[in-house]
Amino acid sequence: MGDAIVIERLAKSYGAKPALKDVTFSVREGSCFGLLGPNGAGKSTTMKILSGLLPPDRGHVSVLGRDIRKSGEDIRREVGYVPQSITLYEKLSARDNLTFFGEMYGVRGAELKRRIGEVLERVGLADRAKDAVASFSGGMKRRVNIAAALLHRPKLIIMDEPTVGIDPQSRNHIFEMIRSLQKSGVTVLYSTHYMEEVESLCDELAIIDGGEVIVSGGLNEVLDRFGTQAVYLELQDAAKPPEPAGFGKPEPKDKGWVVETPSPLEAIAAWAAACKAKSLKVKQLEIVRPSLETVFLSLTGTTLRDN
Ligand code: ADP
Repeated sequence: MGDAIVIERLAKSYGAKPALKDVTFSVREGSCFGLLGPNGAGKSTTMKILSGLLPPDRGHVSVLGRDIRKSGEDIRREVGYVPQSITLYEKLSARDNLTFFGEMYGVRGAELKRRIGEVLERVGLADRAKDAVASFSGGMKRRVNIAAALLHRPKLIIMDEPTVGIDPQSRNHIFEMIRSLQKSGVTVLYSTHYMEEVESLCDELAIIDGGEVIVSGGLNEVLDRFGTQAVYLELQDAAKPPEPAGFGKPEPKDKGWVVETPSPLEAIAAWAAACKAKSLKVKQLEIVRPSLETVFLSLTGTTLRDN
């Protein structure tokens, strides 16, 4: 399969202020791609350019095999874009809102009626079709927005931080929907500042910060290459653990403690020996998979949450 999106050396400024300095990454067709970065990193700007809403200053962008500068109109017809801000008519029902958006996308009549039923089902709101949007929670409104972007059966859907500020139930619905969209062959580009979301949802990612891509590629490949392994220890009682000789001071994590190390097997052996010497009962002692948190830290020297 080819690439659904190719971005090369993309730059964009708002006035004199650069939002994207030099952005290069590509999104494989059929993947769920996570665009991860702190607030102000340039995620929305990238997504608006990909959706044809904002012209780039420099660089090459192709979406579904077409150059964005030459084929903006065709691209808009094949892409579903879910903006961060919610644009719905509060007094109208979910169905009437979707009728409005469907007609805007050129879907009409019986086909539109059928599609509205399908997309409401997909976002888990089929039973609320007739209710005014004003009675919906923030998360439900976001799901109507996503439904609107799916009406014209896009091959690529671009979602700008769809889980910010919503209830856990809506978040789960959105996650399930993304998984099922991907299964049906739709390419998903998804932005977030939550690393855990990318780890559980996406198979490819780019980390963006200050308008520049820090790293991009397959999730496992990035974790293997730039992440740090760690060893996790939980003791039977809440006692402070001994130090595994030669591996530094353990840091508290969840109900236990961790040490980061490129040699986890040796650290496990050293920690087990130290616990045994003090007759401490071990509840759990295991290797922890590298996380995007450690990738971000090793590449930037700061944590994503600090930004
Ligand atoms: P993100 O989506 O990662 O939070 P944005 O793409 O929204 O980042 O913003 C990137 C940078 O561009 C930020 O510094 C932001 O303040 C700036 N920016 C975004 N939109 C505008 C705008 N319309 N006018 C001026 N500056 C903007």
